[in-house]
Amino acid sequence: MSENEVKKEEKSAADSLKEQLFYKSKSVFETAPDEVDAAYEYAKGYMAFLDHGKTERECVTEAIRLLTEKGFRPYTFGTEIKAGDKFYYNNHGKSLAAWIVGSGTLEDGVYLAAAHIDSPRVDLKQHPLYEQDGLGFFKTHYYGGIKKYQWTTIPLALHGVVTKADGTTVTVTIGEDDDDPIFYITDLLPHLAGGQMAKTGGAIITGEQLTILIGSRPYEEKTGEAIKLNLMKILNEKYGMVEGDFMSAELCAVPAMKARDIGLDRSLIGAYGHDDRVCAYPELTALMATEQPKHTVMAILADKEEIGSEGNSGMQCAVYFDLIADMAGTLGANEAVVRMNSKCLSADVNAAYDPNFPEVHERMNVCYVNHGVVITKFTGSRGKSGSNDASAEFVGYVRNLLDGANVVWQTSELGKVDAGGGGTVAKYIAQKNVEVVDLGVPVLSMHAPYEVVAKTDVYMTHKALVTFFAE
Ligand SMILES: [Zn+2]
Repeated sequence: MSENEVKKEEKSAADSLKEQLFYKSKSVFETAPDEVDAAYEYAKGYMAFLDHGKTERECVTEAIRLLTEKGFRPYTFGTEIKAGDKFYYNNHGKSLAAWIVGSGTLEDGVYLAAAHIDSPRVDLKQHPLYEQDGLGFFKTHYYGGIKKYQWTTIPLALHGVVTKADGTTVTVTIGEDDDDPIFYITDLLPHLAGGQMAKTGGAIITGEQLTILIGSRPYEEKTGEAIKLNLMKILNEKYGMVEGDFMSAELCAVPAMKARDIGLDRSLIGAYGHDDRVCAYPELTALMATEQPKHTVMAILADKEEIGSEGNSGMQCAVYFDLIADMAGTLGANEAVVRMNSKCLSADVNAAYDPNFPEVHERMNVCYVNHGVVITKFTGSRGKSGSNDASAEFVGYVRNLLDGANVVWQTSELGKVDAGGGGTVAKYIAQKNVEVVDLGVPVLSMHAPYEVVAKTDVYMTHKALVTFFAE
């Protein structure tokens, strides 16, 4: 045995000990290469879901369409229920709960997954329409956390509803068909942007500058505000609306871009609104793949997470646990016991490590694209403020569950300590005495008009939820 060989053997003993004792996050390509084709296939359905659901309302409509095909039916409070029944509850058209009644006792707890279906965007103000110096515009107020400059000079579509004076509501979608017009927010040419570019990023484009260009052609007869008049006439012809109807409208500008494969190898997906439809869709597919569960399993698609889970469609609304309480009442179960024994995966995204911005991540505690579904024990900012911070026992439970089903997973926190922070719906679910941890997909360019995820991570999230619902 040469000296070299001895060294090699020693190293290999150390290596095997390392393998035994150390932890190393690995990619799906390394640990589950057989699953990659399935992940690519799965992505097709997800991308179609994204193209049909650019607002929370559209996501609810599309989810109900998918669920109805699989035998789910609308639930009304007080409905008689039995094991195997599949229901959904449409909450004001903006959030949704869907579930399958388990074969076991309800007091063993409900297995919940909760994602959100609202995404950052630019909403119209209640008095939006004006013309200035030969151009027609909509004034806006942005929704959720955005870098305002990112929303200029990209194609925008208009989505939403208008409730008219007579009480009827019309749905508006302009900019998604290839021959539809689109909308646009202007920015300054670099030649004249010296003053602008000297500002800090948050001030490059102000909230009041996010005005949407919607036209320039005046009404044929000479009159004041002729461009505005012509635009209002077009809206009146198309939707029967008058200017006052904007006051009772919810109209949103969202990127007029479809979900697309990114990369020569097509391994990534670019789209508007991955956060958090990339978790909402796996919740739906996992629920629809579940047959005769032991526990009652429920998927929640909540609204308004991006503005604090507020309102009667946000996660802080009572309705989700009212539904559980209603079933407890019907079945003679103690509702407090049902909640106490319930478990929840708060399905939300986390920030993937971006090699172009290494300074904000702490490399040992960040999630990587293609390294699978990410468990986020805590969120929050500063000293974990505003975080659920799941218990070691519950994280351990989920960890064992995923390992047992060969789900590739990793853990992460959101950036370096004190680099910033964020929150999810987890803490509102925890308030109901439910065990809950965040779990979801790593995202690049989160909250940008066009975000990026990896197909393998989306698929692993689906698998994680399938496994959880089968418990
Ligand atoms: Zn978000």
